[in-house]
Amino acid sequence: MQAPDRGAAGALLAVAVAELVDVACNEHGKDPAPLRPVEVRAVGTVPYFSRTDHATITLTGAAVAGDYRSQVLFQAAHEAAHAAITAADGWDWVDEMFATWFAVRVMRALNATYASETEIRLHGEARQLSTASMVAAALPRAVAEPYPPGLYGRALLTAQLLERTFGWPTVRELAHPGAPAQRADLTAWLRSLGAREQLARSVLGLRGS
Ligand SMILES: [Zn+2]
Repeated sequence: MQAPDRGAAGALLAVAVAELVDVACNEHGKDPAPLRPVEVRAVGTVPYFSRTDHATITLTGAAVAGDYRSQVLFQAAHEAAHAAITAADGWDWVDEMFATWFAVRVMRALNATYASETEIRLHGEARQLSTASMVAAALPRAVAEPYPPGLYGRALLTAQLLERTFGWPTVRELAHPGAPAQRADLTAWLRSLGAREQLARSVLGLRGS
């Protein structure tokens, strides 16, 4: 049986997610208008994002029902970034990098303790996957198939290192600001760096061109 206030809580969650999508669009230089409305479901066993004729953000039913607010917001922020930047026809580590880094930044603003615990956990998990292996990985498309262990942690570390090295305006070019959601073009981005391309290649564990 549903709790009597579940409808009201669901409406609040939808408002929170809509705000997070707007912030994610702003951070990555995207126009939120074509994204509306974003459907929010709280029925998943894992959180995920999908795009058909509209964007759908699915959060884990257990987190929402258990009122784990920080966990729900962390999930929602991650998926809101996907709503802003991730194309319908596919995604890769760059999408996970932006989504994970955005969710950590949101949580730093909302719950600093949760944010720092999450960063410590993710940084620890990053040891399971090298940067080169992450960049080379073909991520599974099915919701039920897990990503390589350590991917979110490695993606977060990579985002933070790239931002420290090149600055956010350069890093976010990978998300195609000003354009609709589309696949990241790593080769074109590396070329756009000019004299800094080799530095970026070394950060990403890539061999020289
Ligand atoms: Zn993701």
